[in-house]
Amino acid sequence: MILLGDYHTHTKYSGRNHGKGTILENASVALNKGIKQIAITEHGFNHKFFGVKRKELPAMKEDILNAKEVTGVDILMGVEANLISKSGDIDILEEDFEYLDILLMGHHKMVKMNSLKEFWQFTVVNSLSPFAPSKEQLNRNTTAFLKALDKYPIDIITHLNYGCPTDTLSVARMARDKGTLIELNGKRVHFTDKELEIMASEGVKFIVNSDAHSPERVGECNTAMNTIFRLDIPLSQVVNVDKLPKFTIKRG
Ligand SMILES: [Zn+2]
Ligand SMILES: [Zn+2]
Repeated sequence: MILLGDYHTHTKYSGRNHGKGTILENASVALNKGIKQIAITEHGFNHKFFGVKRKELPAMKEDILNAKEVTGVDILMGVEANLISKSGDIDILEEDFEYLDILLMGHHKMVKMNSLKEFWQFTVVNSLSPFAPSKEQLNRNTTAFLKALDKYPIDIITHLNYGCPTDTLSVARMARDKGTLIELNGKRVHFTDKELEIMASEGVKFIVNSDAHSPERVGECNTAMNTIFRLDIPLSQVVNVDKLPKFTIKRG
């Protein structure tokens, strides 16, 4: 089992040096580890502390072109967008797509939500009871993810259930039907074995990503790889192990 692409990595372009390295450093580590393709996916614009700034997108693009040339590693430009409302809005504008090769989306804390009420519901309530959600909370979270999947050409849902519990199987089935990949995060897998087995049996497609916040962590996906191995998830459903996926932003 060889990981050939890592589609969730951060750099200094995530605000306040949240990511530690440069794009060139992430690509250089990928080259050394035999990873053929990576994506640079900074936190979305509405993240209060760690969000990338729209005005930095042109410089990011330039750094990507340069790092590609120097290392020979293929580099996609992306963003890890934030869920910002119960109606499934995310912090991406139509004009942002000009820069994007790949769109990731996940729930994060400390994000500017569309309203104060939604900040309460998604940030505060989920922080207070991340493991034993009320039925109302679970429904609200799940509905928001389903609506986001319906509204946006999301390629990958990152760390599903991390800090925002959902009805995993409902989200995974919708993702499967929309051609969206469910991430098996290199650091933390937030599914039960049973959920993963059902997802696999129902044809959900997975992607393994490091979510590296420093260059040396690019390609480090042991937790996810061990889970795949342990549960015998069919490799035909894991798009970046022993092969490379193709991403094209599916815009209406
Ligand atoms: Zn994240
Ligand atoms: Zn991330």
